[in-house]
Amino acid sequence: MIVIRQLLIIPLIFFSLTAFAQFTAAKHVIIVAIDGFRWQELFTGADSSILFDQLQVKDTAMMKSLFWHHDPIERRKKLMPFIWNYWASRGQLWGNQSLYSNVSVHNPYRLSYPGYHEMLNGFIDHRIKTNKPKKGKRDNILHTIASHDGFQGRVALFGSWERFNDMVDTGFVAVNAGYQLFETGTHGPDMRLANEAISHSSYKHLGTRPDMLTFSMAKDYMRAKHPRLLFIGLGETDEYAHQRQYDLYLNQAALIDKMLCELWTLIQHDPFYKDQTLLIVTTDHGRGRHRLNWHRHGIAVSGSREAWIMMIGAGVEPLGEMENTASVKLRQIPSLISNSLGLHYQPKHRVASSFIRLKPQSGTDHALSGNNKFSERK
Ligand SMILES: [Zn+2]
Repeated sequence: MIVIRQLLIIPLIFFSLTAFAQFTAAKHVIIVAIDGFRWQELFTGADSSILFDQLQVKDTAMMKSLFWHHDPIERRKKLMPFIWNYWASRGQLWGNQSLYSNVSVHNPYRLSYPGYHEMLNGFIDHRIKTNKPKKGKRDNILHTIASHDGFQGRVALFGSWERFNDMVDTGFVAVNAGYQLFETGTHGPDMRLANEAISHSSYKHLGTRPDMLTFSMAKDYMRAKHPRLLFIGLGETDEYAHQRQYDLYLNQAALIDKMLCELWTLIQHDPFYKDQTLLIVTTDHGRGRHRLNWHRHGIAVSGSREAWIMMIGAGVEPLGEMENTASVKLRQIPSLISNSLGLHYQPKHRVASSFIRLKPQSGTDHALSGNNKFSERK
C-alpha cells in the first residue's frame, strides 16, 4: 500500500513542478497601491457631479480646463495620460464596473488596514477590522518570499502611511514608512533629498508623508539595491478625499500617473529589470459613489468594496481594459505574485488562488528553475 502511494505521489509532484515552471513569467515583481483611489476616476476621469461643486473644488474653472471633457474616454486620458495612452494598449486593467469587470475587497470593513492585510496575506483576519495597529500579523507574502533563496535581502516596502511599519516584519523585509528616515546603506540624490525633507518637516505628527518622498526613496532603493519584490504604498489620494478636496485628489491622481510613467521608464531602462519585471497597481478599498459620500468609505458606505487592479510587464498579455470577467478579489493578489515568480505561497491559512495565469516568457530561463525548494509548502 505504501509503495503504491509513493508511486502515485511522485508523478503528482512532478506535474506540480512542471505546472509552476510553465507559468513562471517574471523574475521580479513591483506592486504599487494607491490608497482609496476610486475606479470611477481611473476608468472615466473626473466626476462631473463633484468637479463642479464649489464646496469641494476651489477653482472649478481651472479644474474644468485641466480635467474635463464630455467624452469619458477623452476625459480619463486628461487625468491619467500614461495609463490610457500607453499602459492600456500594453497591459491589463481590471475593475471597470460599467464593463462588468468587477474587482472588490473581500473583507467587510472596507478600511485601509484590513484592505492591505487582504492584499498582502490572501485571506481575511477578522481581528483586523480597524486601522489601529496590531502586532504579530506580519507573515504575509512579502515576509514569505523574503525567506526564500534568491530573495533574502531583496524584498522591500516603502509606504507613505506609517501603519505599514506594523504590517511587515522588518527582520525580513526592508521597511520604511511615514515620517521615518532611511538610514542604512549608501544613498543616491533622491534618498538624500527625501531624508532631508523628512528631517526638516513640520508635519511629522501626521500619519502620512507626501507620496513624492515615498516614491523618491523607492526609486533610489531600486537603483542601489535592485529589490526583486518591492511594495510601494501611496497614501495622499485617501487623505485629500477625506478632506473633501476633490481638486487635490485629482491633482494627486495626475501626479501618480507621472510617477508610474517614471517607474516604468526606470524598469525598462535598467538591464536588471528590463522585460522581466511584472508591475501591479491596485487600491486597498473603494469609496462612496456620490457627491455627498465619495469622501467616505467603510462598512456602511456603498461603493467602498469596489476596487481595481492593473498589470503590465513580464507575462502580461496586452488585453487592455477587461470586460465581462468573473469577480476578482484583492485577496487573490498574493497568489498572483507568487505564481508569477514561480513560487508557492502557502501560509497557515488557506489563501485565495490567483485570478489569472500569466504567460510564460519565451526562450528565456525561468526565474527560479532548478531550485525545487520554491515549490515546497511552508
Ligand atoms: Zn481612508
